[in-house]
Amino acid sequence: MARYAAPGTDGATMAYEPRYDHWIGGEYVKPQRGQYFENPTPVTGQTFTEVARGTAEDVERALDAAHGAAPAWGRTPAAERANILNRIADRMQEHLEELAVAETWENGKPIRETLAADIPLAIDHFRYFAGVIRAHEGALSEIDDDTVAYHFHEPLGVVGQIIPWNFPILMATWKLAPALAAGNAVVLKPAEQTPASIHFWMSLVADLLPPGVVNIVNGFGVEAGKPLASSPRVAKVAFTGETTTGRLIMQYASENIKPVTLELGGKSPNIFFADVSAHDDDFYDKALEGFTMFALNQGEVCTCPSRALIQQDHYQTFLEAAVDRTNKVVQGHPLDTDTMVGAQASNDQLEKILSYLDIGVAEGAKVLTGGRRADLGGELAGGYYVQPTIFEGGNHMRIFQEEIFGPVVSVTSFTDFADAIKIANDTLYGLGAGVWTRDVNTAYRAGRAIQAGRVWTNCYHAYPAHAAFGGYKQSGIGRENHRMMLEHYQQTKNLLVSYSPRKL
Ligand code: NAD
Repeated sequence: MARYAAPGTDGATMAYEPRYDHWIGGEYVKPQRGQYFENPTPVTGQTFTEVARGTAEDVERALDAAHGAAPAWGRTPAAERANILNRIADRMQEHLEELAVAETWENGKPIRETLAADIPLAIDHFRYFAGVIRAHEGALSEIDDDTVAYHFHEPLGVVGQIIPWNFPILMATWKLAPALAAGNAVVLKPAEQTPASIHFWMSLVADLLPPGVVNIVNGFGVEAGKPLASSPRVAKVAFTGETTTGRLIMQYASENIKPVTLELGGKSPNIFFADVSAHDDDFYDKALEGFTMFALNQGEVCTCPSRALIQQDHYQTFLEAAVDRTNKVVQGHPLDTDTMVGAQASNDQLEKILSYLDIGVAEGAKVLTGGRRADLGGELAGGYYVQPTIFEGGNHMRIFQEEIFGPVVSVTSFTDFADAIKIANDTLYGLGAGVWTRDVNTAYRAGRAIQAGRVWTNCYHAYPAHAAFGGYKQSGIGRENHRMMLEHYQQTKNLLVSYSPRKL
């Protein structure tokens, strides 16, 4: 086991600034009302930087910068925009360890994930959209012999983007890469819990982008997010966060008839058919690992497999093995390279999860493992740690229906295929799902029957840039990833041209 040094200590790979202002028009700009808020690390609970507290005035200033930059950026040839995105990816690759430490320190997630997943996926996202924008083409329709309809993709102009705290750099990348590839300028508001890692990223790549193409306004939801989403000066709002906030974002944007894309919450089912346990082999082992994915990223994943559905025929034996496997998940210092579960992202989040642990017990669910705050002692005593927890209960319970967003899974059984699908779909949400079976017909039929935008089959928590991602039902509107995402950042210009010499 090795441990990365914490930022600001001897041997650290990166250092945070003691204070972050807004990033507007290619430079740091102080908040117009002069206010800052403290940003603690979830690892120890100690403040490590302070951040400008943005308001409507700061958002206006960022929109001025974005509107100044948008026309030239939109006219920049796609090949040149692609080159810039590739240079951003190269720069991130050079600084991968620093970015990983930055993300771990601010969010609390294990370094082995930021090194192997968060940052590499973000790098690949820039490369993917650099590639697809060069292959992106308009369309031509032949109306008749003398008449042609040309269809051009045009950038929207200036877009507003609001992101959450659970994958700060990756969530920023999911929004920035397609928007920039498509030729838009951006005003982005990070989550108030995790703005600093995005500023650290920005400081690494700032010289690669024309000033004003990317602007970052920090701050809280109502103070900074609402003016951005309500502004008539944004051509589109892209939002990732809670379903309740998504509803507000739609209302704000509707005032100005602006399109929105929403990536919202989930309560994803992970379904284990009985044939999984037919042999004690690698597949069985992989399925058990798939069960423990509820604790990945401390459960702070919109697609967290937070409901496990296990077929009755193997319920007891599979569940015992799953509990055993969960007990082997290593929880510890997020900067230790063998830590698998780190700290929750904020004290509010910690308290929310602990309240759901009480709710689960109060509504009669049985705790099979975990169930408490994790006391890791020493310098971690003030950090925000929760034990990976398995509840056993029924799908009507609140712990099966409400998004806990912690390392908590609620387990229940099902009788047959129809029962599994009924329970899986008995939710407001429809973001992700997992299906585990050795039978290809069952896998296919379950995948098609589950009302969710992404169904992992015999795997879970893979996020390649070229697979479409998004929600059914109250989990969202639109898709992210995949080249189809470009359509959310462009509008279509149609030129209908007559080449006929005849009079009209
Ligand atoms: P949140 O909705 O509280 O906050 C998200 C962002 O919205 C933050 O930047 C916040 O400041 C801002 N915000 C809050 N209120 C606002 C308002 N009234 N107007 C404008 N902006 C406002 O969500 P969160 O707690 O940061 O994130 C967790 C949620 O995000 C979970 O529900 C999770 O499922 C969801 N999520 C979804 C996806 C996905 O792709 N579907 C990915 C990650 C997270």
